[in-house]
Order: sequence, then structure tokens, then C-alpha cells
Amino acid sequence: MNSPALTFSQMSLNRASSARKSSRWLLEQQNKADTVFLPIWRSLCLFEQDKLALFTRELAITGQLIAQAGNCYFLGLDGEQAVFVLDLSDLSQLQLESLLADKYQAKDFRLSLPLVTVKQAPVLAYGRALNHWHRQCQHCGYCGEKTLSLDGGHRRKCQSESCAKEHFPRTDPVVIMLVEYQPPGEKAKCLLAQHHNIPAKVVSTLAGFVDPGESLEEAVSREVLEEAGVAVEQVTYMASQPWPFPNSLMIGFFARAISDEINIDNDEIADARWFSAEEVRTFDNWGDEGDNYQLPRKESIARYLIDSWLAKQA
Ligand SMILES: [Zn+2]
Repeated sequence: MNSPALTFSQMSLNRASSARKSSRWLLEQQNKADTVFLPIWRSLCLFEQDKLALFTRELAITGQLIAQAGNCYFLGLDGEQAVFVLDLSDLSQLQLESLLADKYQAKDFRLSLPLVTVKQAPVLAYGRALNHWHRQCQHCGYCGEKTLSLDGGHRRKCQSESCAKEHFPRTDPVVIMLVEYQPPGEKAKCLLAQHHNIPAKVVSTLAGFVDPGESLEEAVSREVLEEAGVAVEQVTYMASQPWPFPNSLMIGFFARAISDEINIDNDEIADARWFSAEEVRTFDNWGDEGDNYQLPRKESIARYLIDSWLAKQA
């Protein structure tokens, strides 16, 4: 199956997984004149007008950003050009403002997505997720000692000699599923829910984190049963999408419901209903005015699953 061109997928960088294990090679890359640094301050990205800011090596060095921030992680090679993420999070608000002057603006990642090109989005997602992990993993989870970044930021090691545990970048798997019910002799319906953490008019697919000791198919069945009280069968993989809020991997499925009975857990979701394709096609887009139901954001795999289902309906 060819993977669909979902936002945050289609990575253009070569991660150079073997080469990045050499600290000498990494230093050479960091010191090349055309190397670029993707700055991130806490959860915010930097923009120069409406363009994603990429710092040159000269700016990063002369601004002592690498020294000040202390954290610079290798993302990959764009052709011959090395790309690093530069964590500015240790700078205070005042220091950041002084650095930005009037040239750059710090912007919310999600709200600034329309300014990011198709090629930049996966790099930004990757840099943001990797950076988030480093900020979470400064101390060893076993003994509490400080950890040190290795392999260009793709491994951390506990500095306690007696512990010396290694830590690796973390990705949290989330299953997300479009559930269909086909009444005998009638047109199919899909199950969409209103969620507590998104605007009330938006109806979307169900989703949930995979539990330890659980297959993806089991996670789909469990989540749909827990959230909507619907039993499913025929769980089929569709597509996956890196989701850097902060470091999830969304794994998308279709699932077929055994019956259309719904029994909602209101702690999990606000509401869930079956909708026909005709109804879903009348829905507005996220952020539109008016009281109509709205579909999930266009860049989300939830929207991809809904659109894929609609395309199959008469
Ligand atoms: Zn330790």
C-alpha cells in the first residue's frame, strides 16, 4: 500500500542513522557553512514574517545560541546540507525577545501550520517531537542522575556510573478509527463523536492511546467499546501519521460495528452518533462560522479517514 501524503509524513531528510553515531562527523556537519538550525523555544516555533525561521551556522555561532542553549540535535541531511534543531528553551522570555528583535516572531506551532510548506511540516514535526523528548529526559528515570545527549541527540545516557542506563526518543502510539455500520439492505453509516477537548461543533473519529501489552487491533476494539459502547470486528489498517502534539504516532483504521447500539461513556467523549454519507457531506470545515457540524482539521488523519470513507459511499 502506498502511504497517503498526510501532513507531517513524507519526510525529505535522510536521517543518516549510521553516520550520526560519529561525534567527529557530527561536529563537521555542525561547522559546515551551509548547515541550518531550526530554532524552537519551548513549544513555539520562530518565523521571519510569514516564513519559518532557519538560522544559519553564522547566526547560531555569533549569537552564541548553541552555547547559550546548550542543546542542538541532528535531524538529518537535505541532500548534502545538514539540518539541526536548536533548543532555545533555556533562554528567558527577555533573552528570547532580545534575540528576536523585530526580525522574528515566536508563534504557536498548530496555529502557524498554514505558513509551513509541505516539505517543512515533517521536519518541523520531527524536530519538535525530538526536542520535547530531550526536555523530558534531562534526568534518568531509574536513578534521577543527569543524562547526556549522544548520537546527535538520538540517545541519552545516564551519567551515574553504577546506573548508566540508556534512553531513546519516545513515540506514543495512538489508534484512531473510523467505525462503520452497514444496516442490512441500507446505506452505511459512520460513527462520529464530539470530544471534550475540541470545539463542540466538531465531530470526529474515536481515538485512544495503545495500552501496554495490547495489539493495535485490540486497542481499536477496546477504545470503541469503552468510549461509545460499540462492539467492532474487521479492523483494517489504513494509514499512519506522526502527530507532534507532542510526540504521538496516529495509526488509522477502519472498523465495522456489529450493531448500531451506542452507549456513551461521558467521561471519555461528549457525544457520539451515526451519520450517513449524505449528512457528513453537508458538514462545514473546522473554524467555519454557523451552528452546523464541522469536520476535523484538514491536516489530521481523522479527516483523511472520514474523506476516504465518503469517497467509497454512493
Ligand atoms: Zn540512572
